[in-house]
Amino acid sequence: MDVKNNILETIGNTPLVRLNKITKDLPCDVYAKVEYFNPGNSIKDRMAVKMLEVAEKDGKLKPGGTIIECTSGNTGMGLAMAAVVKGYKCIFTTTDKQSQSKTDILRALGAEVIICPTNVEPEDPHSYYSVAARLEKEIPNSFLMNQYDNLANRQAHYESTGPEIWNQTDGKITHLVVTAGTGGTVTGTAMYLKEKNPDIQIWAIDVYGSLLTKYFRTGEVDLNEVHPYVSEGFGEDFVPQNYDMSVIDHFEQVTDKDGAVMTRKLAREEALFCGYSAGSCIQGLLQLKSKLKKGDLVVCILHDHGSRYVAKVYNDQWMAERGYLEVKTFKDIVSARG
Ligand code: PMP
Repeated sequence: MDVKNNILETIGNTPLVRLNKITKDLPCDVYAKVEYFNPGNSIKDRMAVKMLEVAEKDGKLKPGGTIIECTSGNTGMGLAMAAVVKGYKCIFTTTDKQSQSKTDILRALGAEVIICPTNVEPEDPHSYYSVAARLEKEIPNSFLMNQYDNLANRQAHYESTGPEIWNQTDGKITHLVVTAGTGGTVTGTAMYLKEKNPDIQIWAIDVYGSLLTKYFRTGEVDLNEVHPYVSEGFGEDFVPQNYDMSVIDHFEQVTDKDGAVMTRKLAREEALFCGYSAGSCIQGLLQLKSKLKKGDLVVCILHDHGSRYVAKVYNDQWMAERGYLEVKTFKDIVSARG
């Protein structure tokens, strides 16, 4: 029989799909690693399971224990799934800024979600960081995963995402393009690919409002770079320990608007219904057109599925309110027709 023993065994081995229209102005072939094929609909399933396995191996979690993490998104989904299969409890802390539907999804998988106020400093005892840290101290046999500094995060990509891309392209990949948040995906995948061929160019995509790009260029943690942005899943206001900047060749920033517009284009032109960061990834690549030549083979990692973004980038009103959507008047249409 061709069966899986549990849902976690379906993680990984996602397809690499050629982009046929959206990158037509580039001189080379571009393939998308479509990570929404993972059972939790995102790439984060890979690192969630790895972080759990390492915690078990290191004796930090024993059967029946409690997984704690500050998350409302994809990492929570992966951890919650792994917890169900492996018999752990899950407690996630998140902020009141996150949509109810995200917390409902985590609760659907049996996780407990604690909503904390957004407008407090991280050091405040009510912040979602502080609450998670306190819970870890109070609850016996519990472990705070800390995806930012837990190196099992990048290890997951070194062991699975990197080898998959290398094998799927028969080692012909020349450029990897990845949005960067915790840094786990870009660093782990790059570490593997650079070992295979140090000439492979690794391009990290960041958002304006994040300090990562300036840190990459100058080594300076400049808080003046930090301002609120609406893009989701990538960019940071600190530098997580999962980064090894030496395996990254270039950092490129994109605007909230350009990423959002490209996310919608990806759905309409390639039928790839993905999350916000996927559009930002493609946008970043297109900004780097002048660095590409015929014969190059580019792989872009698309982190998650579009279903969690229907009330945002895929909603016309949300887009128009932010000035991301050109709202055409009847006069515009008539004059365009001449
Ligand atoms: N896009 C999405 C949708 C994500 O959830 C994440 C994870 N935060 C990223 C991009 C960035 O990946 P990483 O944290 O591995 O750098």
